[in-house]
Amino acid sequence: MGSDRIIFLDIDGVLNCKRTPNPRKLPYIVDPPLLETFKRVVERTEAKVVLSSTWRYDPAGLFSAKHWGIPFIDAIPDMPGKPRRDEILAWLKLHGDVARFAVLDDDDDELDELPLFQPSTAAGIDEKIAEGLVAYPLGKTDQDMRCNRLKRLFQNIRSMVTGHKG
Ligand SMILES: [Mg+2]
Repeated sequence: MGSDRIIFLDIDGVLNCKRTPNPRKLPYIVDPPLLETFKRVVERTEAKVVLSSTWRYDPAGLFSAKHWGIPFIDAIPDMPGKPRRDEILAWLKLHGDVARFAVLDDDDDELDELPLFQPSTAAGIDEKIAEGLVAYPLGKTDQDMRCNRLKRLFQNIRSMVTGHKG
């Protein structure tokens, strides 16, 4: 078993939220207090961050992620037509040195069998999710934090219908 702790990071609905103005100009928008909350998680867990957000295959998105100082080391591959779960598992397969990982995403895209930490899209990452996300990669708990089953069912159906482009 490896030694790395990995957090797969979605951005929209996690590091920005409903109240973040988002004019979709450059850079794309991150909410500084939400980013600070996330950065504290990274510090406390010493986790490495791998982007799973759609920002990863959009040059403007990558530019924006760097502009805001989002501390990522890599991104999951883009596998058109496949759910985000498959893209995360493909990354894990290539990287043997992973001790524990967690998935931080407001949306479910067949992520149900992975350790999923799901903020509400409306609020982004909050202190409660942050606490859970600190404990999990450190192995202090096996408890993840996700929306209720019905909400996830709808999210999964929507992902399927839109061809996993979310
Ligand atoms: Mg999202």
